[in-house]
Amino acid sequence: MTYLPSPNRYQGMPYRRCGNSGILLPALSLGLWHNFGGVDVFENYRSILRLAFDSGITHFDLANNYGPPYGSAEENFGHLLKKDFAAHRDELIISSKAGYDMWPGPYGNWGSKKYLVASLNQSLKRMGLEYVDIFYHHRPDPETPLEETMAALDLLVRRGKALYIGLSNYKAEEARKAISILKDLGTPCLIHQPKYSMFERWVEGGLLDVLEQEGVGCIPFSPLAQGMLTNKYLHGIPQDSRAAKSSGHLQTEQITSEKVEQIKQLNEIALNRGQTLAQMALAWLMNDARVTSVLIGASKPEQLADSLKCLENTTFTPDELNRIETILQY
Ligand code: NDP
Repeated sequence: MTYLPSPNRYQGMPYRRCGNSGILLPALSLGLWHNFGGVDVFENYRSILRLAFDSGITHFDLANNYGPPYGSAEENFGHLLKKDFAAHRDELIISSKAGYDMWPGPYGNWGSKKYLVASLNQSLKRMGLEYVDIFYHHRPDPETPLEETMAALDLLVRRGKALYIGLSNYKAEEARKAISILKDLGTPCLIHQPKYSMFERWVEGGLLDVLEQEGVGCIPFSPLAQGMLTNKYLHGIPQDSRAAKSSGHLQTEQITSEKVEQIKQLNEIALNRGQTLAQMALAWLMNDARVTSVLIGASKPEQLADSLKCLENTTFTPDELNRIETILQY
């Protein structure tokens, strides 16, 4: 059936300015790392994307190697763009990335100009797009000069293949250098995408300050620690969970009894706030004004619907924050 997006789609979602740029991003963005690949079910991911757009999510995050197999999330997204969202391209911020292994040989990985230019060309073909809105270097490359990588990103913007540039997984000082090179080239860095959640706090040790000082946005990935910061692992490992799937990146060994104990206690605080744990974990990230948008995943439309309700309560009392901090320090 022809998809007609909800006419109310812009009514419930807050949009936050991305650093010092002209771009506003939705408080929640949707990532296609898992659940949108060749191994996944078309009608399910189509429903997730439609619900996302109907709810005001305008930003969809991809990468060359999302799937499995590699490339299939971009292909599937491109297919749905054509079928459902063709009339709405200008309402969307679509991102892709390159930086991890993508094709065999010395030119299919890391940060050379050769790899980044070829990879973005491939991503554009897979998605059927003329340009992506944001192109990221997915991780720092210790062997390629930073100048080469940043010049390649600048070139892609000048060629009109990407509108903005992002960095991902760069530590604070690496990010500062890259941001400075990009500024000198005349292509300011729009955004940084780090792993950040209640269980993963490294960005608080300097990166968030650098981004604030430099006027660069921040979009935390895996905000639910791949599903651990929800109520799903409280009583074992459900069969349909990421931890149980062979294609998932969450390993059962990561769900230790100590973690489950923390999750139980966090869940109590969430229930007292009238939220699910997922909603509280997302609201907790939004509570920091330096966070532009929180980049979630979802394997079912119901999960996305649940996560979206975090927007109903994003403030915390000092007592709630202290209790959360105490639990996280175990
Ligand atoms: P999350 O931490 O949000 O984990 C998403 C998973 O949690 C879902 O697939 C689902 O897992 C479970 N889940 C989500 N919502 C709920 C809910 N309300 N209740 C119960 N369970 C829920 O994020 P991801 O790890 O998926 O990462 C998000 C995005 O970040 C990626 O798609 C990608 O775009 C980006 N990313 C970027 C990286 C980078 O290096 N730049 C690396 C990793 C991710 P289940 O399958 O168990 O149902």
